[in-house]
Amino acid sequence: MVRSFEYVVPGSLDEALETMKEHAPHLKPLAGGTDLLVELKNNLNGPQVVMDLSGLPELRGVEETSAGLRIGAMVTHTEIEKDPLIAEHVPAMMAAAATIGGVQTRNMGTIGGNLVTAVPSLDSGPVLLALDAQVTVAAAGGKRQLPLTEFFVGPRQTALAPDELLVDILIPTVMLGRRASFRKFGLRKGQALALVNAAASVAVEGGRIAEARIALGAVSPTVIRAMSAERVVTGKQINDADALREAAEVAVTEAQPIDDFRASAAYRRELIAVGTFRVLEEALAQTTAA
Ligand SMILES: Cc1cc2nc3c(=O)[nH]c(=O)nc-3n(C[C@H](O)[C@H](O)[C@H](O)COP(=O)(O)OP(=O)(O)OC[C@H]3O[C@@H](n4cnc5c(N)ncnc54)[C@H](O)[C@@H]3O)c2cc1C
Repeated sequence: MVRSFEYVVPGSLDEALETMKEHAPHLKPLAGGTDLLVELKNNLNGPQVVMDLSGLPELRGVEETSAGLRIGAMVTHTEIEKDPLIAEHVPAMMAAAATIGGVQTRNMGTIGGNLVTAVPSLDSGPVLLALDAQVTVAAAGGKRQLPLTEFFVGPRQTALAPDELLVDILIPTVMLGRRASFRKFGLRKGQALALVNAAASVAVEGGRIAEARIALGAVSPTVIRAMSAERVVTGKQINDADALREAAEVAVTEAQPIDDFRASAAYRRELIAVGTFRVLEEALAQTTAA
């Protein structure tokens, strides 16, 4: 069966937002297409308009601003792996990007598409959550910024209105250079969706953990912060392995992993504990970052 749609390629963000205003909710933005093309193939009631975002310079690039590190929604996972500013300020993002699909998927797939698809196992999510990332979204009426925690609403559901585009992601200045780590557990090392993924960031002062963030993916309807586990380690000495073990146990109680064809909930609980311990341990072992 042939499913036809109009294909438009706006040349500026303003033009794109006007097009969305005119056609929402019957329009789908197209970034790298690694998720959307699968959806178009499988969905009989697909969009009437597909809007290619590749001509929008406003959605590209990584730059340092007075507010922090700005990452355009159209930045690909391969670009994240190779970007010098990301390497300098948020290397855990490179580690996460490197685990996404294969080379071809990373060459095409964008960070914006990953966040908007919003599957619970998305690999960009945990590090960004652990770094207090904000997102900028725009409609013809104007822009708004919101914390990434509020952007994820449910499995494959975000706070984007049908006429809104995700423009960029901001890592606040205070988080740049912060010790951070990412781990992904799959059924094999490459080309596997996460059974569980985890990230942590820590600020260290006088040999103690002054601030901690722990984020977990694939264990709840959205990526989550394990805030009770964060409280367990806050104020503890950086070499207090018992505190890390306790945080790992507490993190398990904050998640709601499910049984599915990839893994049992019980196995996922084991992975949450192991992952939480390791990302904290690895973040704390870093010496060069803030
Ligand atoms: C073989 C394969 C392996 C994969 N492995 C992984 C993996 O290991 N980990 C992982 O996390 N993901 C994985 N994915 C999923 C996918 O590659 C990523 O989610 C990717 O980042 C999606 O980005 P995209 O640019 O291709 O998005 P697209 O497919 O272009 O778009 C995805 C959705 O987001 C919307 N959208 C895109 N950009 C915007 C924007 N700026 N504003 C508003 N809406 C927007 C689109 O309309 C669509 O609904 C895999 C996919 C494939 C095909």
